[in-house]
Amino acid sequence: MASSLPKNRTETTLHDKKPRYTAAEARAEAERCLYCADAPCIKACPTEIDIPTFIKKIASGNVLGSATTIFEQNLLGTSCARVCPVEVLCVGDCVYNGWNKPPIQIGRLQRFATETATEGETKQILVGKAAAKPRRVACIGAGPASLAFAGTLALAGHKAVLFEKRAVAGGLNTTGIAPYKLHAHDALDEVEWVRKLGVEIRTGEEVSTEAKAKELLAGFDAVYLGVGLGADSRLGIPGEDGPGVRGAVEWIEEMKLGAIDAKALGRVLVIGGGNTAIDVARECALLGAASVSMVYRRTRADMSGYAHEMQGARIEGVTLIEGAQPAAVVRDAGRVTALRVAGAGGERELPCDTIIVAIGQGKLSALAALFAGVATDKRGCIVADLATGATGNAQVFAGGDCINGGKEVVNAVADGRNAARHLAALWLDAGAT
Ligand SMILES: Cc1cc2nc3c(=O)[nH]c(=O)nc-3n(C[C@H](O)[C@H](O)[C@H](O)COP(=O)(O)OP(=O)(O)OC[C@H]3O[C@@H](n4cnc5c(N)ncnc54)[C@H](O)[C@@H]3O)c2cc1C
Ligand code: SF4
Repeated sequence: MASSLPKNRTETTLHDKKPRYTAAEARAEAERCLYCADAPCIKACPTEIDIPTFIKKIASGNVLGSATTIFEQNLLGTSCARVCPVEVLCVGDCVYNGWNKPPIQIGRLQRFATETATEGETKQILVGKAAAKPRRVACIGAGPASLAFAGTLALAGHKAVLFEKRAVAGGLNTTGIAPYKLHAHDALDEVEWVRKLGVEIRTGEEVSTEAKAKELLAGFDAVYLGVGLGADSRLGIPGEDGPGVRGAVEWIEEMKLGAIDAKALGRVLVIGGGNTAIDVARECALLGAASVSMVYRRTRADMSGYAHEMQGARIEGVTLIEGAQPAAVVRDAGRVTALRVAGAGGERELPCDTIIVAIGQGKLSALAALFAGVATDKRGCIVADLATGATGNAQVFAGGDCINGGKEVVNAVADGRNAARHLAALWLDAGAT
């Protein structure tokens, strides 16, 4: 799968910011862990990985055992190790923080264990698989939520089939995550590992009609909606349409999966104050754009982007323009020359060549309407029970960004896993062993 990606992808020029520990580094870091009873780091992880146990196994040289402990709770432990905002999750809750000492680098230890255990052609499957059972599940979308759902049910012996509209599986792990955290080929390696658990993945198959929805409901015992979010939201200002103005998620996908002309970026303005805006700004700066500024309508304190990511962006040369509300894109003979913004001092023009809009994504609520009983809330998110993924249709479950409006990979994995565990238990009770 990974080999089907073009070799000259722009993302490959952006290097890993936190490379994998060597065995000696991992062991030294693991030995610092206090293996706390009632460990706060476990509670901070949405998938409740037994962190002290997996770290202790690294310290004792049992790397395969360590990876097994991780995968038992989180089948996508490899990508989570790289993309989780550990600074605000497990690492942020490590007891060392309270003593002003460097916290344990849990993400890097998790990466060492999972990658060491699964690398190579054979890609070891470390978690046990139950005997085959008669149930069949269909998943719409092949992102982290569906992969965790399908993988967990496949391990319980059920047949899982994923329908993915894109040519590549993996969801935003493959198409959206900043390349200095995770390249598309590494995301696809993990997809391949999940596939080997017993999951079938059909790419280039969009589920968008009532007929297809009916076919899935008739052909499968359960359907999982793991469709994520929709297209980039637009500013709705004059001059927005035309070359030089791009949606952030669409731009990142192009840069990750193909070759873009980085030199043509020129002076970049990124609109938004969230993590996607920060990611895009950092990516443009690292690709060598002439200058990169983030334009945010409120103040730094109001930004939803993480402080540690913003700090990284500043180091890479990104500047922040606060209190600036985009009013119009200024063009000369069609070419973008500036962004007009409104602020406390009135309107002004910020010269630029490229504008990348990172103000959120739409919702894929139309999909819910294909399944009787599946409701959406006023934000356009699919309504599902957080613990079980259950929707208003007893045969349909949902999780990930499409129910929470956009969180992290680890939340999508937790949703998928929880729904699968719930369903496997229901079916076990019903005698489908
Ligand atoms: C730019 C960006 C950077 C991010 N960076 C991070 C990060 O560093 N760390 C982190 O933890 N999280 C990050 N996130 C959030 C994270 O990527 C998501 O929370 C996570 O991917 C959600 O998983 P999901 O399975 O719900 O959806 P997705 O990953 O979006 O997967 C949904 C899949 O469904 C497919 N699909 C949609 N509709 C259909 C249909 N009708 N038929 C068939 N297939 C369909 C899509 O093509 C897609 O592959 C980032 C998000 C963005 C946008
Ligand atoms: S809180 Fe820190 S020291 Fe304690 S078990 Fe977790 S990682 Fe180890």
